[in-house]
Amino acid sequence: MTELSDLPIRDSLKGRTPYGAPQLHVPIALNVNENSHRIPEEVAIDVVSRLAKAVLSINRYPDREFTALREKLAAYLGHNLKAEQLWAANGSNEVIQQIFQAFGGPGRKALGFKPTYSMYSLIALGADTDYFEAERAERYELTPELIRSAIEEHEPNIVMLCSPNNPTGTPLSLSCIEAAYEATNGIVVVDEAYAEFSHGQEESAISLLPGRPRLLVSRTMSKAFAFAGARLGYLAADPAVVDALRLVRLPYHLSAFTQAAAEAALDHSEAMLGTVADIQVQRDRLLVELAELGYDPYRSDSNFVLFAGVEDPQGMFEALLAKGILVRNVGIPNTLRVTAGTEAETTAFLAALAELTHQG
Ligand SMILES: *Cc1c(COP(=O)(O)O)cnc(C)c1O
Repeated sequence: MTELSDLPIRDSLKGRTPYGAPQLHVPIALNVNENSHRIPEEVAIDVVSRLAKAVLSINRYPDREFTALREKLAAYLGHNLKAEQLWAANGSNEVIQQIFQAFGGPGRKALGFKPTYSMYSLIALGADTDYFEAERAERYELTPELIRSAIEEHEPNIVMLCSPNNPTGTPLSLSCIEAAYEATNGIVVVDEAYAEFSHGQEESAISLLPGRPRLLVSRTMSKAFAFAGARLGYLAADPAVVDALRLVRLPYHLSAFTQAAAEAALDHSEAMLGTVADIQVQRDRLLVELAELGYDPYRSDSNFVLFAGVEDPQGMFEALLAKGILVRNVGIPNTLRVTAGTEAETTAFLAALAELTHQG
C-alpha cells in the first residue's frame, strides 16, 4: 500500500497531520462550538424554496460576484458598510486561506498569539507562509504592549487576532486591535467567528474600519447563525482588500445553492439568532457551575468555556464520551473545552462531570 510519505509531496507537508476534531455520532456533541439548536422551521422552508428556485438555472454558473448576498451581509453587519466592502467564501476558513494566498506566501510571515485557533498555522503551512506564535499574558489575556512588542520582534506581514479567542474564550479590547494596526505595515485580521455571543463590553472591530485599509474583520454563519453545514464565512474590509482577494479566489467559488441558502438565512437573521440569548445563559451557567465543582473556568465571550483544574484531561474526555458526551481536549495541560449547548445538553454535561469529579 502506498503511504503518504512515498509520494513526491512538498517538503513542508511531510509528516504533518490534517485538522482532525473527532466527528463521532454521540447524543451530546459539545466539541466544535456549533449551535446545538436546529434552525427555525419557517426559515428551513424558505431555504428549501429558494434552493428549488436556484436549481432551475443550475445549468449556468452562479453570480461570480454574489452581489445580492454581499448586499445582505452588509445590511446585516450595519455600520454603514457597502456591498463592495464585503467578501465571502465557503466558511471563514476559506476566507482566511484567501487572505494568506494574497498577503502571505514564500518569504512572508504571519503572527498569532497562542493558544489560538489551530487553523491559522495549518492555513499558513498550506500557503507556504512562516507562522510565529507569541505567548499570551496571565489567563490568556492580551495587552496593547504585548501585541506591540510581538509585532516589533517578528515583523509579520499578517497579524491574526481572534476575538473572542478560540480555544480560550478570551475577549479582545479595541485598544489591542488599534495597537496592532499602528505597530505593523502588514495586514491585521480580526477573526470574529463568535462575535454574536459577546457580553457586549467589547465592540466589534468593524467600528475601526474607517480609515484603516489594512484591517480585515472576518465573520462566519457557522456559529451563532446555526448554519455550519452550509459553509458560509465572510469578511468586511476596504474595497481594495476585496480586490486583492479576487486575485486568488477560484472563479464561481460560491455555488448557486450556497448563495441562495445564505440569502434566505440572512433575510431571517432575527429568527436565526433567536437562540443566542439562550446559549449565552448556558455559557454563563457553565462559568458559574464549573467553578462550583472546583474547576477554574476562563472568562468567555463566546459559546464555549475552557476550564482548568482537570487532572487528567484525556481520561476525563474518555469518561465523558463513555456517557455519550463529546467535549474537546485542545491539548492545553489540565484543561478541557466545552461548548454551551441547549439547556438539556448543558445540564447533562454538568451532571456527568459532577459525577466523575466526585469519583475521582
Ligand atoms: C469555528 C471558527 C471559524 C469558523 O470556521 P468556518 O469555516 O466559517 O466554519 C473561524 N474562526 C474560528 C476562530 C473558529 O473557531
